[in-house]
Amino acid sequence: MTTNQNEFYKGKVAFVTGAGSGIGRATALTFANAGASVAVADISEESNRETAQLIEEQGGRVVAVKCDVTKAEEVKMALDRTIKEFGRLDFAFNNAGIEQRNAAVADFEEEEWERIVDINLRGIFLCMKYEIPLLLKQGGGAIANTSSGAGVIGIKGGAAYTAAKHGVIGLTKSAALDYAAQNIRVNAVAPGYIDTSMMERFTGGTAQGREQVIAQEPIGRMGQPEEIADAVVWLCSDAAAFVVGHAFIDGGQTV
Ligand code: NAD
Repeated sequence: MTTNQNEFYKGKVAFVTGAGSGIGRATALTFANAGASVAVADISEESNRETAQLIEEQGGRVVAVKCDVTKAEEVKMALDRTIKEFGRLDFAFNNAGIEQRNAAVADFEEEEWERIVDINLRGIFLCMKYEIPLLLKQGGGAIANTSSGAGVIGIKGGAAYTAAKHGVIGLTKSAALDYAAQNIRVNAVAPGYIDTSMMERFTGGTAQGREQVIAQEPIGRMGQPEEIADAVVWLCSDAAAFVVGHAFIDGGQTV
C-alpha cells in the first residue's frame, strides 16, 4: 500500500528521545517536515530547545520536554505533556543513548557498566512501558528503537554498549511479538557509524580516528543522521505496514 506521506503524517504525533542532537534531532526534523507534530525530549534542555526552534523555524508544530529516559517519572511526565499539547501519540522514536567506554571486560568499572546499560537499554524499556498504553488506547501506532551495528556484532572493548544494544534488538523483537496483533509495530534501527557529536567524541575528532571508523564501513563513508531519520519515518508509515520486529541500516557494517 502506498501512502501520500504528507497526508499520512498530518494530524499525527511523534515522540522523539535524544532529540537534542544527531540522529534524534534529524528524525524530529524529518517527522515535522513530513507533517507530524513532534514532542522532542532530551536530558539536555538547551540542545532540546534548539531542536524545537529549528522545527518552529520550518513552520512545524513542536513541544520540548526535558526528560532523562532512566527516570520513570520524567518519561511519564514527558508523555503526559505530549498528550496535553497534541491530544494523541502515534509514533515513538526511543533513541536517547550514550557511547561506549573502551575497556576490556575485566577492566570495566561496575558503575560505567550500569550507566551505559541503564541509559541505552533500560531507558528504552521505560519509554515503551509508558508509550504502549497510550498507543493501545487509540488503536495502534508504531515504535522505532535505536540499537546499533554493535547490537548485531561484537565490538572489541565495547562490552557494556554491545550488550545493551544487543539487548535493544531482543527487547524490540519481544515487544513486536507482544503487540503486533494489536496494531502496534515495533522495529529498531541499528545504525552503522553515523557522523554525529557522539562519533566526534568516539573518534577523538581526528582524521585518523575517522579513517579507522570509515574502514569498517563497506560503503566507504559514514552515514548521515538524516539517512537514519528517513528510515525511522518510513518505518512509522503504512508503507512499512508489514515490517515487524526488524533492525537495520548500517552501510553494510554488519554484513
Ligand atoms: P548524540 O550524542 O549526538 O545524541 C544523543 C542525545 O541523547 C543527546 O542529545 C543527549 O543529550 C541525549 N541523551 C543522553 N542521555 C540521555 C538520557 N538519559 N535521557 C534523555 N536523553 C539523553 O548521539 P547520536 O549519534 O545521535 O546517537 C543517538 C543514538 O544512536 C544513540 O542511542 C546511539 O547509541 C545510537 N547510535 C549512534 C551511532 C553513531 O555512529 N553516531 C551508531 C549506532 C547507534
